[in-house]
Parts: sequence; C-alpha cells; structure tokens
Amino acid sequence: MPASIYLPRRIYYCDLLKGCVMEIREFQQLINRMYSDKDRRRGPAGTFLWFVEEVGELASAIGEGTKEEKAKEFADVFAWLVTLANVEGIDLDQAVQEKYGTGCPGCGKIICTCEEKP
Ligand SMILES: [Zn+2]
Repeated sequence: MPASIYLPRRIYYCDLLKGCVMEIREFQQLINRMYSDKDRRRGPAGTFLWFVEEVGELASAIGEGTKEEKAKEFADVFAWLVTLANVEGIDLDQAVQEKYGTGCPGCGKIICTCEEKP
C-alpha cells in the first residue's frame, strides 16, 4: 500500500505519486452516507428525474457556461448518477471496472479502433 496521508473528515486521500484522489467507490459511499434516507424514500423513478434534470443543466452549461459552471454541473450529474446507482444497488466502481477496465467494450482495445460515431 502506498504511503498516503488520510485527511480527517475528508474521503479522498493524497500521495506523492497520484496527487489527491477520490475513487468512485469512496464517492459512492460518501453520497450514500449523505443522502441514503432521502434517496430510498424518493425511489428510482424520482431519482432518475433529478438525474435527467441535472443532465439538462449540464447541457445548458456546455452551451453557455463558464468553465467553473461546467465543472459544477459535471459534478452534479455524476453525483445524481451515483445516487441512482445507490438506489438501484449497483456498485458503480465494479460496474465501470468490469465494462471498461480492460479496454473498449466494442473492440477490446485500450486505444479504441471502433468506427467513429457521428
Ligand atoms: Zn472500440
């Protein structure tokens, strides 16, 4: 295990090689800790609507937002995606590793050689 500095009350860690990182699993656990009661009451359909609303806000920010506004909307979309995964009982870290961890799901290569999408 690399030497790490665990900051109190922070869920990410910093080390000399990687800088400061928060892994997907840690973020999903943080979101679960912050919101799980509300999320369970709202359920998957209501949570999905909030996720889609945030995607709409990201679309607006991409169209006319500053870089800071875009960054905040990316964070919101990711947080609501993680929330939806919590509500559905999906381990997003594991899902991403299984689908993309060894390369492109289409061609299996690290540098994708699939036909370009428009
Ligand atoms: Zn590919």
